[in-house]
Amino acid sequence: MKYKGTYEFFSTFIEGLTDTIPITIPFNLTPSKIRALENHQSLRFIHAGNWWNIKNPEKRSKEVILAQQMKLANENTIGFMSKNVQPGDLDLKEEEDRLKKIYSKKINYDKFLYWLLDSSKLIKYYKKNLEYANWARENNNSTIPIYCSIQVNNYESAREWFEKASNDGHDHFCIGVSEFLKYPKYKKLGIKKLFEISLGIRSVINENAKLHFSGVASYYLMPILACFGVSSFDGSTPVTSALTYGTIFNENGYGQRASVLQDNIEKRERFFATANKCKCEVCNGKDIKQILDTFSKDRKTRVIHNISIWRNLVSEINSKKNNLDKFLEILDSRINSKYFKDLLKIKDDALEKYDY
Ligand SMILES: [Zn+2]
Repeated sequence: MKYKGTYEFFSTFIEGLTDTIPITIPFNLTPSKIRALENHQSLRFIHAGNWWNIKNPEKRSKEVILAQQMKLANENTIGFMSKNVQPGDLDLKEEEDRLKKIYSKKINYDKFLYWLLDSSKLIKYYKKNLEYANWARENNNSTIPIYCSIQVNNYESAREWFEKASNDGHDHFCIGVSEFLKYPKYKKLGIKKLFEISLGIRSVINENAKLHFSGVASYYLMPILACFGVSSFDGSTPVTSALTYGTIFNENGYGQRASVLQDNIEKRERFFATANKCKCEVCNGKDIKQILDTFSKDRKTRVIHNISIWRNLVSEINSKKNNLDKFLEILDSRINSKYFKDLLKIKDDALEKYDY
């Protein structure tokens, strides 16, 4: 369970984002976003898209994905995610029924969360994932690495299939993880699975190999997953929470709506711990009242602030990368939250279960 390199977080791209912020973009980026990105010099990770957003399989074929990724690539592109598949996306009828039932709440999610299935039922998908990644590697006309994506669902399948991928010559790996965290009822189990999967993958790949978890941006999960050897992440939490809910985060990853902080002095004091320590371009030089005023009026400032909180976390992880266990201890005492302590317990259980 060793990883020797540096860590990175790629934020969902929105127009107007500072061009030093590493971003993730989908292969099917809209023309307006393509224009907005023309002069963007940040690092970029190019995603293979989500099967549940793209109903027509022809629009998400391995050929279309790779061709579009190569078109969107520039000298700052660090990787292309290979096409990942899982139960649901090969059978559109079944998928449509599944979504209909979920949205009308007539059915338990557990029957349909693929990662709860027995791993033996997923073998044809594992095979397909590796086949797509190998194809992408052979047909990639650029020097940008293919991130071999396989939707494994436990420690054993992670070891087996990422070892095969490693033997096939891959040294960049990926898994789409948002489904593990999607439903509150299964979140704890999903987190446990993700810890075990990261442990499994890292145990069979090279210590310099990259491992990307796509679809997780949790302030609390990223440092723990880094400890398991996940080298990069992409996700939308700092952006979408700022835009959709008006949420801002403090330097301990604690989120609260800016409007609530404006009205509630007690919550405000707890949030800022008397003074705002953030030095981002929005907060710098302002007092708490001025900052909250700015956050309430201008949604973009919330995004800029939140992303700076995430950038600080990534720099901390990188500066402590030689002793991340120690870093988790420091973080634990700083965050002082029951939820984070529970996560650390799940982490320790995973290590013990697999004898690390
Ligand atoms: Zn700030």
